[in-house]
Amino acid sequence: MARRTKVYEGKAKILYEGPEPGTYIQYFKDDATAFNAEKRDVIDGKGVLNNRLSEYFMVGLNTIGVPTHFIRRVNMREQLVRVVDMIPLEVVVRNIAAGSISKRLGIEEGTQLPRPIIEFYYKDDALGDPLVSEDHILAFGWATHQDLDDMVGLAARVNDFLSGVMTGVGIKLVDFKIEIGRIYEGDFQRLVVADEISPDSCRLWDAKTGQKLDKDVFRRDLGNLSEAYTEVARRLGVMPGNTTTMPKPKLMN
Ligand code: 5GP
Repeated sequence: MARRTKVYEGKAKILYEGPEPGTYIQYFKDDATAFNAEKRDVIDGKGVLNNRLSEYFMVGLNTIGVPTHFIRRVNMREQLVRVVDMIPLEVVVRNIAAGSISKRLGIEEGTQLPRPIIEFYYKDDALGDPLVSEDHILAFGWATHQDLDDMVGLAARVNDFLSGVMTGVGIKLVDFKIEIGRIYEGDFQRLVVADEISPDSCRLWDAKTGQKLDKDVFRRDLGNLSEAYTEVARRLGVMPGNTTTMPKPKLMN
């Protein structure tokens, strides 16, 4: 089999050159990292779950007319995506206070925010992805006014979609992070949701018990991460039961 060309390797995913020009294969690893990779582990089955869950959310977004880079899932750990020119920002949408906003502004975790709040972080591991203002983004040329309007629009639509989907299965969407890329079509560019949407990049709390079903389980040592992600997948009907543990072969007499 021909060796594939690796284009990029991140903390949780690898990008390979795709089968056609303008495509990549996005491979989901089992690696989990937190606190800018100071904490790391390998969680069996995480990549399989995130590949499936990200497919589920991206397909749903495409269906309601929110453009994404997703083309199709290829196998358990890989999906075919469009090559995009990534904007070097993480776009975070918050519905309920948790994580860094609680620390930064002293808001108790779990406080409902008056309305969804959108924040931008500059993607730079060495700097720890610092929070930046729209003025930073414009002054340093990371995005234009038009891009900012489009990014806010995309983030709001993703929030409405994901909140609705999660509410339907008894989960509160506390916050999430998306990354956005440009696709060029002739003289025009379009912004699309890229990277992944999965419990690695969202905060998801059980609506009744408040149990965390996201990467905070790993960040804060709250239990078994793949069980939490499997529960999200099970509720969404994405994967029946626990597919991360392979059944043992039966001995035949
Ligand atoms: P916070 O700013 O509170 O740490 O994170 C806000 C939301 O964005 C959380 O859902 C968190 O999982 C997500 N998020 C922020 N930065 C990153 C990142 O570098 N990688 C991933 N996967 N998610 C992030």
